[in-house]
Amino acid sequence: MSSSIPTVTLNNGVQMPLLGFGVFQVPGEQTEQVVTDALAAGYRAIDTASAYGNEEAVGRAIAKSGIPREELFITTKMWIQHTGEDTAKREFDKSLGLLGLDYLDLYLIHQPLGDYYSSWHAMQKLHGEGLIKAIGVSNFYPDRLIDLITHNDIVPAVNQIETHPFFQRADYQQLMRAHGVQIESWGPLAEGKNHLFTNPVLAEIGAGYGKSVAQVVLRWLTQRQVVAIPKSVRPERMAENLNVFDFQLTGDEMARIAALDTGTTVLFDHHDPEMVKWLGGRRVD
Ligand code: NDP
Repeated sequence: MSSSIPTVTLNNGVQMPLLGFGVFQVPGEQTEQVVTDALAAGYRAIDTASAYGNEEAVGRAIAKSGIPREELFITTKMWIQHTGEDTAKREFDKSLGLLGLDYLDLYLIHQPLGDYYSSWHAMQKLHGEGLIKAIGVSNFYPDRLIDLITHNDIVPAVNQIETHPFFQRADYQQLMRAHGVQIESWGPLAEGKNHLFTNPVLAEIGAGYGKSVAQVVLRWLTQRQVVAIPKSVRPERMAENLNVFDFQLTGDEMARIAALDTGTTVLFDHHDPEMVKWLGGRRVD
């Protein structure tokens, strides 16, 4: 692992970088260059998904980088159209092949929808065979997470959920910690929603350290031991987003940021029947 990025220890002893890089909504044709730039900036954890349609391009950038495999932490996610363990296993093989890897660091169930119990059973086996270092879930609300834990052998190592200043998940983080599940933030910058980048509280805190709003947010998340995977297609922002380990927010500043919580999503509501229907209808080739 790159020495400048702190790591967290997952429930099976695997080390995961506290800060990584996400490639959702990076167009396929741009992804190879974007990931090449991110690796050059110093990121070692890359988060993709079969549903993003850019695993192959991520794989090309990894191969081209020449970075030793053991220094990288590669995550991808299984989409929800697949039912049955055999299909789930084929979906894994496909992702691994597109990425050009012989093992994954982290494999996640993308949504708590569809036949995800079969997916989990397949993933438990693949983990046992050493093909995945850690298995986890994404977008699981507390009831779904506890249900999965209760009825299976392996406790998910990670739950990747929407987490940012407007949807902070502090209580849920505690519950996950009590069960040994690491919280990982998607949308750490809220995709800029609610005017995040000009928020006066975040801007004022940043001004005290000569840091941008994005840096304050990423510092706040990582200081809470929340793994974050910001996305940017711009090299200068990639570098900016990594440069958050040379200052520390005070208790008072953490409390001021805590007060920004709205307790609800600003991006996707997984309890909305229309959203569940839309996600369920999405097909990934
Ligand atoms: P983010 O919260 O990371 O926000 C990305 C946006 O912020 C982009 O528009 C980017 O623009 C901009 N940005 C990035 N850095 C800065 C900066 N320093 N200053 C100003 N603007 C900035 O959104 P994402 O949804 O991409 O979340 C991150 C990752 O989380 C994804 O890429 C994906 O890997 C994962 N994810 C997972 C989901 C799931 O269901 N499991 C759902 C959504 C995301 P620009 O690129 O132009 O710099």
